[in-house]
Amino acid sequence: SLVLGIESSCDETGVGIVRDGRLLGDCLSSSMEQHIRFGGVVPEVAARAHLEAMVPTVREAVDRAGVSLSDVDAVAVTSGPGLATALQVGLAAAKGYAVALGVPLLGVHHLAGHVAADTLEHGALPERSVALVVSGGHTSLLLLGDLARDPIVHLGDTADDAAGEAFDKVARLLDLGYPGGPAIQRAAEAGDPEAIRFPRPTTGRFGFSFSGLKTAVARWVQRHDGPLPVADLAASFQEAVVDVLTAKAVDACTSHGVDTLVIAGGVAANSRLREVAEERCAAAGVTLRVPSPRLCTDNGAMIAAVGSMLTDAGAPWSRLDMSTDPSAPLTGALLSVTR
Ligand code: ATP
Ligand code: MG
Ligand code: FE
Repeated sequence: SLVLGIESSCDETGVGIVRDGRLLGDCLSSSMEQHIRFGGVVPEVAARAHLEAMVPTVREAVDRAGVSLSDVDAVAVTSGPGLATALQVGLAAAKGYAVALGVPLLGVHHLAGHVAADTLEHGALPERSVALVVSGGHTSLLLLGDLARDPIVHLGDTADDAAGEAFDKVARLLDLGYPGGPAIQRAAEAGDPEAIRFPRPTTGRFGFSFSGLKTAVARWVQRHDGPLPVADLAASFQEAVVDVLTAKAVDACTSHGVDTLVIAGGVAANSRLREVAEERCAAAGVTLRVPSPRLCTDNGAMIAAVGSMLTDAGAPWSRLDMSTDPSAPLTGALLSVTR
């Protein structure tokens, strides 16, 4: 079946068209530029931008996919978590398309989308896998079974800041601009990851904590006289984050007898994270799956991917009077539908 997916939880208006698990075409419109001078996403500005971009982005995605809107069999949309006003624009549009086309509406969890993005390039996930979800708002190690049936097991989460949030805050501290992840990665290329030994704080065996690391960078900068070694700071910070994320993710796989690790979410676009994860997974006999960088950050294709999996699984439709849930927890099965 042909699924139209709509994502609007943050600052990207994303639309993707997926047929039977295969991406036919997608389009992304970002309001990032409008937020730069504020140093972070402004919800009302993002919502307004979604409103302006939505219809043209849907049209462009449909064109690129080489299909027509009337071919669409279901509309999937991010119902949460995310910015309330931004989510509302996407859900209103999705309801409109579903009603106009006379097809099912499927409300999906944003993080299910991040994980499902991988299936567009690498096929269905095996019966059991571990997912490391690392994004702007989340850092979780999840044990996944049958995505449509088995409840997700949270092996660990962050006790404070998310990994992406840490990248963004440290980038601001080093005057590298926004968004911080790509800026740190770029600066780190010219730096020595071993120059400064930053702490690798954790909580419990599979839990994370990044606010202490951010503070350690801030203290180091405060105490330092003279020009800042920005490249070394960026590389050393990035190394600390990558070190804890990959060590715990691989440990989660081996200790649970799981042979597949999926890394998902915006931070999964990080080249150093991908490199170290590849090395450590190979050494542990774990198969690593990571989407292409452009499918790691927010996009509509990943939401259409969940929609495609839901229709395959014969999941119930969402109600047309469903609401957004800005703080939707990731519980139950990964592919549970929002009513
Ligand atoms: P969530 O998915 O938790 O709701 P979000 O949708 O805002 O949050 P994503 O779009 O998945 O987050 O990811 C954005 C985050 O990823 C930002 O914090 C950004 O700095 C980070 N990021 C993007 N590219 C990179 C990179 N190359 N290296 C490190 N971090 C990156
Ligand atoms: Mg974003
Ligand atoms: Fe996201």
